[in-house]
Amino acid sequence: MSDPTIINHDHTVIVEVYRQDATTLVGQVPIDVDWLPAAECARFEAVRRSTEGAAVLGSGSLDAHAVWHETLEKPYVSGFRVPVDGDVNDAPLFGLDYFKTQAHKAGSKLVESGDLQEGESFSYLVYVQARASEKPRAGRRFAVESDTQTLALRGASRVELDDGAALCGEHAEGDVPVYVPQRVLDETADALQRAGTDETGGVLVGHLCRDADDGGVFGHVTDQVPAPHTEASTTKLTFTPQTWTALDGIVRMRGEGELMLGWWHTHPARAWCSQCPIESRMKCPRSGEFFSEDDALLHRTVFSRAYSLALVVSDSYADGLTYPMFGWRRGRIERRGFHVIGAASSAERSTQPASGVAQHA
Ligand SMILES: [Zn+2]
Repeated sequence: MSDPTIINHDHTVIVEVYRQDATTLVGQVPIDVDWLPAAECARFEAVRRSTEGAAVLGSGSLDAHAVWHETLEKPYVSGFRVPVDGDVNDAPLFGLDYFKTQAHKAGSKLVESGDLQEGESFSYLVYVQARASEKPRAGRRFAVESDTQTLALRGASRVELDDGAALCGEHAEGDVPVYVPQRVLDETADALQRAGTDETGGVLVGHLCRDADDGGVFGHVTDQVPAPHTEASTTKLTFTPQTWTALDGIVRMRGEGELMLGWWHTHPARAWCSQCPIESRMKCPRSGEFFSEDDALLHRTVFSRAYSLALVVSDSYADGLTYPMFGWRRGRIERRGFHVIGAASSAERSTQPASGVAQHA
């Protein structure tokens, strides 16, 4: 524990899959760890801890330091730390959860090979092994470098925003508080209705602020910008290169110094299910709140900054019109809460299910 080892390209990370009894070994599968979200998280944590009004994200490369397992012998790990500056032991800690997505893929491989039953739950351990067959590539680190971004943190007051704001979803400790005007939600709901069975979307623009009272960082979404030139289908929205060029231009033209804090897109499940029998609508897996694999891939590819948000505008027979928000937490995409500004004044409107989308089957 006191002597953490840097995990680099000379190592292979292996997931060891056990049956639910946690003692029967099913198999060992090498995984490709995506280190970037951890690095982004660590960098942003450093920004949050600082008191500066400006910060630079993404300069230089970072190392993942293995944290050895408390009870099992080396090379089993219980996680890793990514120090940005200062002591390794004070650096953000990433637990075995960080490997969850890869562990599930490892589980699927073992189902394919017949070692694990379809749907069988399992537990896993993670260990790190030096690559034996390859020449050491000294000096090469994991790809935890990302584009450099200078963040201007605005001085602002959360107390003012909190006045008349309502929490949507659950606020987890450690999450950066986020504020979204009710008007932005209303606009996305209108867009959902207009697009019929197609998904539609755009970006959330605004500012990262440092609270005048406690110095904490929070996000203030000021507006949404519909994304032009997207390729929409019923279940997937694709942002094309032209979309990004146009959005960059629009945000600059606004002249407000806004950041792209995230993106939003719609899941018009009520429209998708309108032709289905009523009894199957409620049970449809696409009805209700979800973040698809495609959604996660887009978020990871384009919105990999630790502060990046993904707002889903969901309209389903099961849940009505809802706004599940997702964001990065310890390098993983998780459901998160946000504060709705001006929610009280339009509460009546927001509790109404979106009308006009439902069709008779
Ligand atoms: Zn989606």
